[in-house]
Amino acid sequence: MSDALPLSVRNIRKSFGRHEVLKGISLDARQGDVISLLGASGSGKSTFLRCINLLEIANGGEIWVDGEQVRWHHKAGRTRVDSQKQIDRIRSNLGMVFQSFNLWSHMTILENVIEGPVHVLKRPKADCRAEAETLLEKVGIADKRNAYPAHLSGGQQQRAAIARALAMKPKVMLFDEPTSALDPELVGDVLRVMRALAEDGMTMLVVTHEMGFARTVSNRVVFMKEGLIDSSGTPDEMFGGAASPAFHQFIGHFER
Ligand code: ADP
Ligand code: MG
Repeated sequence: MSDALPLSVRNIRKSFGRHEVLKGISLDARQGDVISLLGASGSGKSTFLRCINLLEIANGGEIWVDGEQVRWHHKAGRTRVDSQKQIDRIRSNLGMVFQSFNLWSHMTILENVIEGPVHVLKRPKADCRAEAETLLEKVGIADKRNAYPAHLSGGQQQRAAIARALAMKPKVMLFDEPTSALDPELVGDVLRVMRALAEDGMTMLVVTHEMGFARTVSNRVVFMKEGLIDSSGTPDEMFGGAASPAFHQFIGHFER
């Protein structure tokens, strides 16, 4: 359709009170890029993702999603978006998966997956249902379609959350530590689904502490430190020894 970048972020800044959490972050994702975003706790990774999908409004910089720039203005020291309609449209182009699944507990898995397409995109229910079935097959939990979230394992819930995000046909998927809340034996199933998604060509930005995923699935690794991008490169460049001392020190914690 368009050859615009799925995601382009220019010089994003975000403060909470006097605490400057993001100090000017720029990042481009091309179609099919799988970018692992690494960094110590508190370095601003979640805030960065939340600014991209407009759960937080940045204090400065630019965000472009599929060629469309988010419009905002600054007034009395605050940043406000110009158009809620635009925000809704842009958000539906960004699938978000959180550490804590966030499924609707009073709805079945299938109902969770069709909720957005039916009520936000206003698409015919039968079509959405058929697509949801396919997505649930894809993430390996088709047999759970009529179960409630509480009856699924954490890994199954997270895969349902991925299916729910995909049901909106997003241009980019954002993941914030999708496996961090899972028991170790459930992590692999979720990572396998994410790997398959990457192989399908989905553009993905993934905050993760899974170094195996960063090395073998992503085509780019970005290392954040104290609200800035310290270094970035291909997995070979980053893990092969050419990366910054700070990155080496960081990954040292995972090799023990
Ligand atoms: P990470 O995801 O890398 O661990 P976060 O983006 O969650 O980092 O947090 C970065 C910093 O921003 C932390 O110091 C955190 O306390 C602060 N922070 C995040 N969200 C808020 C908020 N809503 N209000 C105030 N401070 C916040
Ligand atoms: Mg975080």
